[in-house]
Amino acid sequence: MEYDVKGNLNEVRRSLPEGVRLVAVSKFHPSEYIDAAYQEGQRIFGESHEQELSRKVNELPDDIRWHFIGHLQTNKVKYIAPYISMIDAVDSLKLLKEIQKQAAKNDRVIDVLLELHIAEEETKYGLTPDACRQLLEDGEWREMTNVRICGLMMMASNVDDDEQIRREFMTARRFFDEVKERYFAGADYFRERSWGMSDDYPIAVECGSTMVRVGTKIFGPRVY
Ligand SMILES: *Cc1c(COP(=O)(O)O)cnc(C)c1O
Repeated sequence: MEYDVKGNLNEVRRSLPEGVRLVAVSKFHPSEYIDAAYQEGQRIFGESHEQELSRKVNELPDDIRWHFIGHLQTNKVKYIAPYISMIDAVDSLKLLKEIQKQAAKNDRVIDVLLELHIAEEETKYGLTPDACRQLLEDGEWREMTNVRICGLMMMASNVDDDEQIRREFMTARRFFDEVKERYFAGADYFRERSWGMSDDYPIAVECGSTMVRVGTKIFGPRVY
């Protein structure tokens, strides 16, 4: 293995305060790398392509908790619904409904995060705060007994300006508090603030992240 997966994993772990969970983002990396991290006790892994994920699920131990972290097309939900532990980037009511449908078929409850679009740069995905309020206000999700909304996910702009990144994370943090109070006040499970990747997770943690998604820093650069 060219990359010191175990050493990097432990370095990232040591830098995280207690209570912040680590999603090891293993997309585009071989199962061998995932297994190395698994042997160090890592159990949560993030993938963003359905076929790659399905292959790895078959190759690797059953007690791994797989997160789907990328953009998920509605027609792919049925393939991952039997086993996925969390879908981290729900950005439409349509996708939420499909997750409900497939989760019900599998007789399980699927945990999800709503993806916020706060970054100042243009990206295709994520709900603006207004769209997110609208979705929650409409209330259709309340009938979705096989879906559990566990929190919010967002990505900061991919820039070198730490202050801009911090501003974006803090906007997400405040928005989380608003949503928590308005819609999930009594719900213990609504507690995840998933922000922070390899380049910005220390700032994300300072801004209240409970769940960082780190790939490159653990597994090295991805070969696409
Ligand atoms: C790939 C990816 C990550 C990990 O990015 P790194 O910079 O390699 O840490 C985190 N979150 C999402 C949504 C991703 O697609």
